[in-house]
Amino acid sequence: MIEVKNLKKSYGDLEVLKGISVEIKEKEVVCVIGASGSGKSTFLRCLNRLEEITEGQVIIDGQDITAKEANINKIRQEVGMVFQQFNLFPHRTVMDNIILAPMKTRGIPKEEAIDLASELLEKVGLREKAMSYPGELSGGQKQRVAIARALAMNPKIMLFDEPTSALDPEMVGDVLKVMKQLALEGMTMVVVTHEMGFAREVSDRVLFIDEGVIEEENVPGELFSNPKSKRTKAFLSKVI
Ligand code: ATP
Ligand code: MG
Repeated sequence: MIEVKNLKKSYGDLEVLKGISVEIKEKEVVCVIGASGSGKSTFLRCLNRLEEITEGQVIIDGQDITAKEANINKIRQEVGMVFQQFNLFPHRTVMDNIILAPMKTRGIPKEEAIDLASELLEKVGLREKAMSYPGELSGGQKQRVAIARALAMNPKIMLFDEPTSALDPEMVGDVLKVMKQLALEGMTMVVVTHEMGFAREVSDRVLFIDEGVIEEENVPGELFSNPKSKRTKAFLSKVI
């Protein structure tokens, strides 16, 4: 479903991604781990063309999304993204946050968009917050709204960039629970995370990115219990 071929990304002289190749299958849940500055966010952002890549290819469902003629809006619809800092519109209600993009870019009538949003709010456990403003929600609630908003575009793939890193510890579980449910429903997911418990329990595969390359990848049981590379071992010894 996602094929990344020799992906390179530089900012000026700084080469951040140094040739990443990986295939991610439909319904697969892949966690990406690695030290700060190793290129995890940059990698994720290349998967929905929030970044222009320097070299290589990203192919989604057979379509090269890095091609000049690729339809960026369609890519962003199909590849949803959830950020560490929620990025909700502060002056809009929760309901409006969720319905605006589907109405505008998918041409869905308002009534239908509201029905869909209500369903999604139910799913993330926030039906009663539809008329609240983001400022009236906790961090964990905001993040669950952000997930509902991304899902309202009916994406084929969901990208998560450290979705729980900005949350108070007691909020983390609610968000991970929603993500786990999504994984069980068969969503294809790429999740940058420091939550090793989530990676171990929910993911099918873990990629350890180190200095812009995939240093090691494996099923979580193997990668966490039996890392092969010295660098993976050193990283894991710091975070587990
Ligand atoms: P963290 O765990 O701290 O989120 P990360 O693995 O997500 O780190 P990236 O955000 O991908 O790391 O950044 C990788 C490198 O690229 C860093 O050295 C960063 O300073 C640099 N970088 C990221 N975005 C830009 C940008 N827009 N312009 C210039 N340099 C950038
Ligand atoms: Mg990052």
